[in-house]
This record gives sequence, C-alpha cells and structure tokens, in this order.
Amino acid sequence: MKIRRTFSFDAAHKLECYRGKCERLHGHTYSFSLTVEGKPDPEGMVMDFVELKKISEEAVLSRLDHAYLNDLIPQPTAENIAVWIWKSVDEEIDRRSGRLCEVEVWETRDASAIVSRGDIE
Ligand SMILES: [Zn+2]
Repeated sequence: MKIRRTFSFDAAHKLECYRGKCERLHGHTYSFSLTVEGKPDPEGMVMDFVELKKISEEAVLSRLDHAYLNDLIPQPTAENIAVWIWKSVDEEIDRRSGRLCEVEVWETRDASAIVSRGDIE
C-alpha cells in the first residue's frame, strides 16, 4: 500500500544555459509530494503522516523554503530538485517502517517531475 503527503515552499532560481523565462532570476511556489510504500502496521498505518511531515520539515523545507535554490542544487530544474529531495529524505524514511517510492515536484500547478527508485539506483 502507498501513502502520499504533499508540501509546498517558495524559492528563487535561475537556469543557466537555458533560453526562456527561467533563465532570469525569479521565484516559484513549488509543491512536492513524498510517496511511501509499505505494509500497514498493527495501528493500520504504512507510516504516520505526522512523522512524514517532520522528516520533510527537517530535511527539505528548513533548507529550501525562501532559499536561492542554485546555492544548493546545480541547475535547479524540477527534475534536479526531485532528485535532491529524494536524497535528503530517503535514509530517514528507510529508518521507519516504510520505503520511499516516489518524489514528485511541481514547478507550477500543472508541470511536475517525478523521480522513483529506478531513477536513483
Ligand atoms: Zn523557473
């Protein structure tokens, strides 16, 4: 079974070697979701949503919210941000009952990038 929780943050970026709006410094309200797979425990949960929120706040939101993404992530496209988020939360989720199976990052409401385990390993 899978569970998913979605979060959002505001950040600035610019894309080098790219011709279009995103080559100039600007901001987005990004959203991302973490999808965790596992077997429900005796309490009926794959993973406590509260715990997932805590991991996300500590590993991602505290670093990316109101940040200049280029300081942390080279060429911060939605794809590269998704990989960065994956690497930031994977171990912490692995220590709990579930296993991370998908990270999706929305740069706008209708444009997103999805990374799954096969893209990382
Ligand atoms: Zn942009």
